[in-house]
Amino acid sequence: MDKDSAARFRKTLISLKGQLAGDHERIVGASSEEFGADMPDINDEASRTMSRRILLEIGDKNFDAINQVNDALDRIEKGEYGICEECEDSIPVKRLELLPFAKYCVECQERLEK
Ligand SMILES: [Zn+2]
Repeated sequence: MDKDSAARFRKTLISLKGQLAGDHERIVGASSEEFGADMPDINDEASRTMSRRILLEIGDKNFDAINQVNDALDRIEKGEYGICEECEDSIPVKRLELLPFAKYCVECQERLEK
């Protein structure tokens, strides 16, 4: 990948990371704020447990996405960005535009998911 494209993806990844980090903070903040309050109502308790679980799940997935973005930024620094980790072919730019933190080309990704 040429320097200009790498710089462009780097920008995209950094702003994506900012968005994800913001989301993550919002989710974590919401869960402690909303659920930290001591309200001894049994019906409410059940619904609170439920939404807390959903929030935590989103939070976890989000955190995973941040890790993937960090990984991708790392690969840019090392000049390995846009190279499939499996077959070492270059990942098409179109694919990276859809999924800037893709580690694998389409073929390898499909093979790995099976
Ligand atoms: Zn591949």
